[in-house]
Order: sequence, then C-alpha cells, then structure tokens
Amino acid sequence: MPDLWDKKYKCPVCGASVGTKKVFTGKVRIKSYEADLKPVYEGINPLLYSVIVCESCYYSALESDFETQISPIFREEIRKVQDEIKIPEMVSFSQERDHKVAIIAYALASLFYKVKNQPCRTAEMYLRMGWLYREINDEDNENKALAKALSNFEECYLNTYVESDKEPMILFYLAELSRRFGKREDAMRWFSTLVSKYKSATSFYVKAGKERWQELREK
Ligand SMILES: [Zn+2]
Repeated sequence: MPDLWDKKYKCPVCGASVGTKKVFTGKVRIKSYEADLKPVYEGINPLLYSVIVCESCYYSALESDFETQISPIFREEIRKVQDEIKIPEMVSFSQERDHKVAIIAYALASLFYKVKNQPCRTAEMYLRMGWLYREINDEDNENKALAKALSNFEECYLNTYVESDKEPMILFYLAELSRRFGKREDAMRWFSTLVSKYKSATSFYVKAGKERWQELREK
C-alpha cells in the first residue's frame, strides 16, 4: 500500500486547481519525541506535506486553512509578497517532497501568515522549518528558524488573542525556546505560567513542561 495519495484544492488567491500529496493517516508512525516534543517518525514523514503550495501563484498555507477566503484588506500585501517570490524552476510542490522542497514550502507559508497578521501560525511554520533542518543536520539554519519561531511566539502571545486549546502549546514553546537560547529567566517564567495556569490539565505540553521546569530549577 502506498504512503501517499493525491488531493486537489482550490487556491483562494488565484483560483487555480492545486494538486498535492497527502499522507495516509494510517501510515503515520511516531517512534518517539525529542526533548522539545518534535515527533520522530518511522517511515513516511508527514511534516514534509503539511503545507499546501499553489504552483501558479505560490500562495501557501497549512492544509487546514489553505482554502479559507482571504480578507480583501490583505490582498494588496499578498500581491507584493508574490511579486518578490523566486523559486527555482525544478522545484515541484505537488509531487513527493524532500526536505529542501518542504523547507521552501514552510518559508512560503511563513511569509503569507505574516502578511495575514497571524504570528502564531508564522511561529509554527518556523518551528517546523527548524525541525526539518535538524533532520538534515543543518544546525545553523535550525537555530535561525527556531529564533524566528521564538520571536513570533512572543508576538503571538503578547499581541494576539490566543485560544485556550492552543495556549499550552504556545507557552511550552515560549519556555522551551527561551531555554534553548539561554534566556533562563524567561524560560522559568513561561514554564511557571504554563504549569500554574494549567495545573490539572492532561495536555501533553503541560506534562512535558512540568518536567522541563523541574530540570531547569535544579540546575
Ligand atoms: Zn494560486
């Protein structure tokens, strides 16, 4: 049985039909999680396919909001971003993807989320981009991507409305990425907010956050 199947979407910017590969849910196997909760997959890596890219106009977004209509107030800015995009001709987003192609897809999506004023999503794009760089052992670019993830998570948390089901994840990454970049005070503060605000929550992020906070306090 194959790992991938073909799906079509309609681009909300240019109206083109967008073909993309999707991973069969039953094929996704998580072997383990790294310290920052990055999943380690066995076999097919679904991180390579989460962003849909329109090959006609390069508009890109996560599958869950790709077809969402775009407010007219962002149209002009989106056009400006599109004018700046230069993609090597041999890159295809609709076929099987390697890390290089997927990283370009996340970079594109981060530009559009930025324009649409969605720093939380922008942060998630940079986080996953960092993870893909880690998988190909490019530490320099991993650090650059994760630093951008942190500044966007900060903007997201401090300046936008955060839904409560997303808040533990965001607090976890604010803390974990601050720790990574040597901002111990910030890390302690974010872990403490996470753990005290979500004391009884069974969230994966709260559980991991408690452990990381404990480790940090003992150092
Ligand atoms: Zn398009």
